[in-house]
Amino acid sequence: MTRIALISGDGAGPEVMAEAEPLLDWARARGRRLEAKHLPYGAEHFLATAETLPEAAFEDLRDEFDAILFGAVGDPRVPTGRHAEEILLRLRRGLELTVNFRPCRPLPGTRMEGLHLEVFRENTEGAYCLQGSTEPGRAVDLAVHTEGAVRRLLEAAFARARARGCTLTLAHKANVLKHGHGLWLRVFQDLQAAHPEVPARSLHADALLCALVQDPTSFDIIAADNYLGDLISDLTAAFAGGMGTAPSLSWAPHRPFRCTALAEPVHGSAPDIAGKGLANPVGMLLSTALLFSHLGWEAEAQAVEEAVAATLRDGARTRDLGGNLSTREMGTAIRDRLPR
Ligand code: ATP
Repeated sequence: MTRIALISGDGAGPEVMAEAEPLLDWARARGRRLEAKHLPYGAEHFLATAETLPEAAFEDLRDEFDAILFGAVGDPRVPTGRHAEEILLRLRRGLELTVNFRPCRPLPGTRMEGLHLEVFRENTEGAYCLQGSTEPGRAVDLAVHTEGAVRRLLEAAFARARARGCTLTLAHKANVLKHGHGLWLRVFQDLQAAHPEVPARSLHADALLCALVQDPTSFDIIAADNYLGDLISDLTAAFAGGMGTAPSLSWAPHRPFRCTALAEPVHGSAPDIAGKGLANPVGMLLSTALLFSHLGWEAEAQAVEEAVAATLRDGARTRDLGGNLSTREMGTAIRDRLPR
């Protein structure tokens, strides 16, 4: 029995989750043995109970579930973002979800159609390790990189490049970030030597961004640390049609715990449009497809991706893409195209 935890979170999170949950029922109806359980963590729960993600709940997620389907966290009523940090960052770090995979497949009918770009972003450390200090007139943010996490991320990226038969590019700034990115470059060169069959190159991140905007087709897979990967993957999300359409999957390739993956849309809780039926559910539904694929349910993953593509090809759009469908109408249109 596969156990999946559902954390809808805040803002647009519950709205897009409501469109993804029926996909689990659909997979079950096709014979997949799965059990889904909603967990309440998010701003509402934090404001009512002062609890973010209690340790016992974290341990339960880690040891009693196989994967997490996540909406989004972030709420203007918690301006420090404390609950978001203690829920999402705790899960990414505590479950050692080193690899954050963000594919970019532009929508049918857009000028970038056919592009197949993938970002592998390290997900647990680097500049987002939340270590540093603020003193009068001086502020320090540390960026911690460990060889274990860097190697896991890059090995996953090399494996994907080999499977796709495509080029891998490392984004770095080892010329100035001599210690941290120096480590990235050394591990990358090690793996290049071990995998001569994979065309691989490293580029300074600034030059890479310039080339990416000028000609996205000159890249297939980009690997980067947490900070650069965050920036690069938001840019590639724009190629694919915007924030509402981009999916992601974080996973632990070394499988340290029962729970090995967390799927979530790239977008945040979108407080400006939340609660109005305006959120595009595509990012969330494609994230669910990535989760299916992670679980080895390839037929279901492919069917969801094809249903999304067919729906968009037929012209169905939410407002962010110039259409007028609501979140629910878009979700229904996609589900209606799934094979029974
Ligand atoms: P985070 O820091 O968590 O990434 P954020 O506030 O920077 O959050 P988002 O919440 O992703 O970013 O919102 C950025 C913009 O994208 C907002 O204008 C928002 O309305 C839009 N947006 C986000 N998600 C969607 C969606 N599913 N559909 C349509 N528009 C969206």
